[in-house]
Amino acid sequence: MERKQIAEGVWQLQEEGTLCTNAYLLESGGGKRLLVDSGCGNLDFDFTPDICILTHGHFDHTGGVEKEWKRVYLHVKEFGFQGAYIRIPKNAKKIDFDVLSFPPFSLEIIHTPGHTPGSICIFERKNGILFSGDTKFAGEGVGRTDLGGSEEEIEESLKKIEGIPYKLLCPGHNECEERE
Ligand SMILES: [Zn+2]
Repeated sequence: MERKQIAEGVWQLQEEGTLCTNAYLLESGGGKRLLVDSGCGNLDFDFTPDICILTHGHFDHTGGVEKEWKRVYLHVKEFGFQGAYIRIPKNAKKIDFDVLSFPPFSLEIIHTPGHTPGSICIFERKNGILFSGDTKFAGEGVGRTDLGGSEEEIEESLKKIEGIPYKLLCPGHNECEERE
């Protein structure tokens, strides 16, 4: 596992292998750990996250979740979605907050359907980081909509993303990208 620091208290964890999902680790001032996505299951976490937020239900984003993780969250619309490659961890709960305070971070949950019905982006306002899952990638990259998603919805979601004052895009695959 490659661990790359992208801001103070924020790391990108990259899996080796072809699917290469990124997970992101945030460390609070008090030593608590929050994960954004958990990869395919090949990331050897040497910690138990206090909180894990999944950007959507595809197996390459949810595969690393362990049974004993207490706070694992997914958007409500991802539960019951019968699309391909969906793997919802049994211990996942519905996201029941719009903003999560995780000092010194504050994480805003933004519903961005299209890749899947319950895809989200997470905006970290302190550093201006947008964790975009599989909705938006570096360059012109946009998430697939042929896995039970919706072209119309992702277009709306991309417009919504345009309006977010982020500085750094941190997607679910490949590299992060500074906004021009
Ligand atoms: Zn996906």
